[in-house]
Formats: sequence, structure tokens, C-alpha cells
Amino acid sequence: MLSTLQTPHSHGPRSHGLWQATAPAPPATTALQGHVSAEIVIVGGGYTGMSCALHLAEAGRRVVLLEGKEVGFGGAGRNVGLINAGLWLAPDDVSAALGPDHGERLLKLLGEGPAEVMALIDRHGIDCELERNGTLHCAVGAAGLAEIRVREAQWQRRGAPVRVLDAIETAAKLGTSAYAGALHDARAGTLQPLAYARGLATAVVKAGATLHTSSPVTAAERKPDRWHLCTPGGTVDADWVVVATDAYSTGPWHMVRTEQVHLPYFNLATQPLSPDLLRKILPGREGVWDTKTILSSFRLDRAGRLVFGSVGALRNSGTAVHKAWARRALSRLFPELGDIAFEHEWYGQIGMTGDALPRLHTFGPNAVGFSGYNGRGIAPGTVFGRELALLISGEKTYADLPLPVSEVTPAPFRRSREAWYEAGAQVAHLL
Ligand SMILES: Cc1cc2nc3c(=O)[nH]c(=O)nc-3n(C[C@H](O)[C@H](O)[C@H](O)COP(=O)(O)OP(=O)(O)OC[C@H]3O[C@@H](n4cnc5c(N)ncnc54)[C@H](O)[C@@H]3O)c2cc1C
Repeated sequence: MLSTLQTPHSHGPRSHGLWQATAPAPPATTALQGHVSAEIVIVGGGYTGMSCALHLAEAGRRVVLLEGKEVGFGGAGRNVGLINAGLWLAPDDVSAALGPDHGERLLKLLGEGPAEVMALIDRHGIDCELERNGTLHCAVGAAGLAEIRVREAQWQRRGAPVRVLDAIETAAKLGTSAYAGALHDARAGTLQPLAYARGLATAVVKAGATLHTSSPVTAAERKPDRWHLCTPGGTVDADWVVVATDAYSTGPWHMVRTEQVHLPYFNLATQPLSPDLLRKILPGREGVWDTKTILSSFRLDRAGRLVFGSVGALRNSGTAVHKAWARRALSRLFPELGDIAFEHEWYGQIGMTGDALPRLHTFGPNAVGFSGYNGRGIAPGTVFGRELALLISGEKTYADLPLPVSEVTPAPFRRSREAWYEAGAQVAHLL
């Protein structure tokens, strides 16, 4: 078996940015060589695949995880690091779209998702800059305030610890009076996303699963009662396949990608703020985003860098446009930052589904996966990975899962919509 040791994240300066610079090293892994047999083969080394692998390996199952590039190469290594509870949609909209059974089951699971992530981090001693002080969904103007009040009422009816802060309380938490209020969600928090992914990978290996990187699955065949997967260096036979490739899917399950419209999202990280600034800006270290259609987000990392993001791709003319906009936006929010330097810049692609809901798909007998996280994948990926482990272990049936199984449906006009999102974000940030 074996042999190429990986150079982590050598994918260009704008792929994983700050997270690549500050994450602890991943476990030593090699590309698959030769033929191996397993009970379960998991494809994709993000949160979904690794949570599934970890729970199965801890239950004593023989697991091989194949990652095409490196652990956290996809969304898991590029995101903002907001450990959100629930989904992008307001709770009543989730319930209306899925029906009360699936809807309320999904809301309960994902409402408890951040606590599950935090418990996993504690249990495995994962060093990933975890902050447990919640998130602030900030209201822009009266319309924004009305929106977060609706969310507050809907979550409070479900017993969630959320509360709308007035403009004064919000300003004290943020260090800016730009917002009309904010919905504080005490369940949520922030983490260093690539560090969490790498920490999960270390736990997966310790639990006894085999993890191969640089091993893209290029073909999959059912023959006749086992799955046979091919990578450039080797093959795997297994009873079950878990497809955990989401927005970065390549190979046999590329259709998962074509079901989604990619929305680019970038982040810029400043140099560490001075102690004086840190006493004023986000002293509680909550994660923040706002109610605008082309939203912004911000948070601190452990060293006190301000990580500021919005919709857009840092490529071609987008790089200069978005960076200039970010500088203007930051000086409106926090004039005391002056012309602070950006130390890191990166972007990734968020996979959006037509109705903003995630998907549960099957791909033939004993082949299953969740996808379509719409920018909410840290807690959902962790929870859904565990749900898949319970399904495979026979402790749950499909009927017990939080989503119904659906057909993969390609997104209409995908390419033109993706081009529109990328160009539209530039236009919005130019104006
Ligand atoms: C810029 C950005 C900001 C975001 N912000 C947040 C946030 O603040 N909070 C939040 O909760 N979520 C956020 N998200 C969403 C979150 O990152 C994703 O939903 C999450 O990473 C999905 O996890 P996953 O494990 O399913 O997929 P991924 O993390 O994308 O992992 C999929 C993996 O599959 C691998 N793969 C693909 N095809 C193959 C193949 N054929 N063979 C082998 N391997 C393959 C890829 O290389 C990749 O490593 C953000 C996403 C982006 C891009």
C-alpha cells in the first residue's frame, strides 16, 4: 500500500487563506495504492464524510475514506467558521417545505447541531479555536429588524435560546452602531474550519479507519452485491458507499454538483488587532452576519485578526473590486481600523439548491449521501454524517432520517446563474 506523502493545500494563494496558515497539521496520509476491501467506503474528506467515518469506526466497522485532494479541500477548509444552528431558511419555512414530520425532526437535529459539534471537539480534544459565545444575525434597517423578530418568535416557540438585542446592546457587542439590532443565538459559535476538519481526520485515523488523500474516485460500479470504486492508484470493494462530496463533487457523483448553483464567497483577514481594538470590536467573539441580500460576515480568529467576508470570487477583476469594497465597508463599520493591512484572502464556492434545503440522495443499493448545505455545513455536515453512520449500522431506517430521499435534479440554467452571481456581486460591490 502506499506512498505519496501530501503537501497540504498547495492549491494557490486564494484557496484556503488564513485557515491553511494557522491550522494544525493533518494526520500523515497516503494515496490509495493496490486493492483493498472494506465494509464501508466513504468518498469525500469534509465534515460529512469524516463525521460518518468517525462514528462508524468507533462502532467497530471497517471503513476506508477516499479524499480526492486533501482533508478539508472543499467547503470544510474555506468557510467562515460560523457554527450555526438550523438552516438558512426560517424555521416555519423549513417545516412548511418538508411537512411537519421531517421539518420538525430536521429543525430539532440542526438546532442541537452546534452542541454536537462542540461535544465532538471536546471529546477528541480538537484544537480548532472553538468559541461558544453564540452568533449575531444583524439587522440592516427596519426590514432587517422585522426579519430577525420573525426568526426570534419562530425559534422561541421551539424552545431555542435566541433573543433580539436592541441597537444599543448590539453596538456594545459589535463595536459599531451600524445595525438596528441583532438576533443572538446562544446555541451557536465559531471555529477554525480547517483545524476542525483536520482534527476530525486525526480522530478518524485514531478510531481505526483508513484515510487516503490524493485519491479521487473516478468510477464506481455495483457488481453484483458489492461496490467497486476506482481511483488512479487503486481500487476498493465495499458493501456500502457514502457520497460526501457536496459542492466540490467530481467523478461518478458529479450530478450532486450539477444540482447546485455555486455562489462564490470570499474572506479577507486583517493583521491581528491591537488589545485596545479587541476591547471594543467583538469583545465576546461572536460570529456575525447581516440581513442584506448580498450579505457580509465577520468574526475574529484566535490571534485577533478580523475575518471579513461577502459574496464574490477573488479572481479576474473581482479581486480588486471586492477588496476595495471590503476596505470601504470596514472603514464605515470600524473607522478606528484605519488602513489596516489584509494578511490573507481566499474564496470558495457555496452550493445552493433551488429551495435552499439540503438533500438526501441514494445512488443505487447501499449508496447514499447528504448534500446541498446552502452555506450551512459545519453543524449539518457533522450531524448528517452521524445519521448516515446510524443508517448503515441498522440503528435507523431511511424513514427515521431528517430528510426524505429525493431524486437528483439538475439546476436549470446553472452556468448562466453562476456567471450572474459572480458578475452581480462585482456590480453590487462597485456601486
Ligand atoms: C466560502 C464559504 C463559506 C461558508 N461559510 C460557512 C459557515 O460559516 N458556516 C457553515 O456552517 N457552513 C459554511 N459553509 C458551508 C460549508 O463549508 C459546507 O457546507 C461544508 O464544508 C460541507 O461539508 P461536506 O463534508 O459535505 O463537503 P466538503 O467540505 O465540500 O467536502 C467534500 C470533499 O469531497 C472531495 N471530493 C469531491 N469529489 C471527490 C471524488 N470523486 N473522490 C474523492 N473525493 C472527492 C472534495 O475534494 C472535498 O474535500 C461555507 C462554504 C463556503 C465555500
